[in-house]
Amino acid sequence: MDYRMETRCCHKVTEIVEEHPFGAVSVPIYQTATFAHRGIGESTGHDYSRVSNPTRDELEHTVSSLEGAVDTLACASGMAAVSLVLELFEKGAHMVCSEDLYGGSVRIFSAVGERRGLQFSYVNTADETLVEAAIRPETKALYIETPSNPTMQITDLRAMKSLADRYHLFLIVDNTFLSPYFQRPIELGADLVIHSGTKYLAGHNDTLAGFVCTSDKELSERLRYLYKTVGNGLSPFDSYLTLRGIKTLAVRMERQQENAMVLAKWLKSQEKVRQVFYVGLPEHPGYEVNQRQSDGAGSMISFTVDTEETARRILERVKLIVYAESLGGVESLITYPMLQTHSDVPEEVREHLGITGCFLRLSVGIEHVEDLIADLSQAMEAMEERPERMTKAEGEEKNNV
Ligand SMILES: *Cc1c(COP(=O)(O)O)cnc(C)c1O
Repeated sequence: MDYRMETRCCHKVTEIVEEHPFGAVSVPIYQTATFAHRGIGESTGHDYSRVSNPTRDELEHTVSSLEGAVDTLACASGMAAVSLVLELFEKGAHMVCSEDLYGGSVRIFSAVGERRGLQFSYVNTADETLVEAAIRPETKALYIETPSNPTMQITDLRAMKSLADRYHLFLIVDNTFLSPYFQRPIELGADLVIHSGTKYLAGHNDTLAGFVCTSDKELSERLRYLYKTVGNGLSPFDSYLTLRGIKTLAVRMERQQENAMVLAKWLKSQEKVRQVFYVGLPEHPGYEVNQRQSDGAGSMISFTVDTEETARRILERVKLIVYAESLGGVESLITYPMLQTHSDVPEEVREHLGITGCFLRLSVGIEHVEDLIADLSQAMEAMEERPERMTKAEGEEKNNV
């Protein structure tokens, strides 16, 4: 029976997954390192939790079902998933990457990948001709984030697939920002999909998790071998938390997107706001491509304000929205990419991407949207009204006017 996405989020999805003891509806947490053998050569199907674990198995089957993957490997974090994928490549291999990747991915590529002899080029992958121009004889993969982080650029995945085919490259897509609920890159030809499960999939800002989803069996076998060797696996308890989070993925994504659209429009009307980057706004340059390849725009909004001072004050004065890194959870979070997620990205690259002191990123949660608007509104308005928070010099300057 072919159940729809919403159903697959909250029900056990495949017959492969065993019945749980006592008919438990929620998957038990198999908090065990190892599994007894009934006799010589008689494995229960699980031998050691670094290799496989029943709680993690169910999570992996669920994510495979949502992404349309042949296999999924649940990792200890999104970065553990990225690091597992790097293990596939030999010395000398080159990758063409989206230029505004998650900062941690840029860091692992330079701090770990380059030391191991891998090479990386960064281009605006929204422009197919730039991607093609960056391909070299030793290029082995395209590494794409769409929407990208934090400037929300959209890359045409079908165009990337045709380049990947022409030049015999792996197409790797970090699908964290839209989740499989809105976008399934494997259906569009991706070989590997990476997730920070910490974000929308787990969805409650309470656990780290990561996934590598594969589109074919041979690739899955290579990854499984590396996975048990390196030890990237997600713990049974965190697997349980992530599975629990996924049960409500569909309803959360819908509500968060609804809130994001209202907030994006509201931000546009604010005097101190200069630019709003939200893929759901028809004026967004990637709007049409995103509509063709996904089922939604998600709930990540970046925006710029008039001055760095305004940006800093918003961060200091929000009361409900939490000033914290991360995204995708039920609580709305606001971050300062320049100092947080992208602090390891070289300054000239940040400047080129527009990640300045006036640039803020908002992950919209499931709160009542009017409460979010009221919070941002008071944080922006507070500027003139709260002279006691100003430094002495600023106060004097004001008095002089
Ligand atoms: C957060 C994030 C990661 C890293 O995931 P962790 O779970 O924090 O290790 C990778 N890619 C993207 C797009 C992310 O947002």
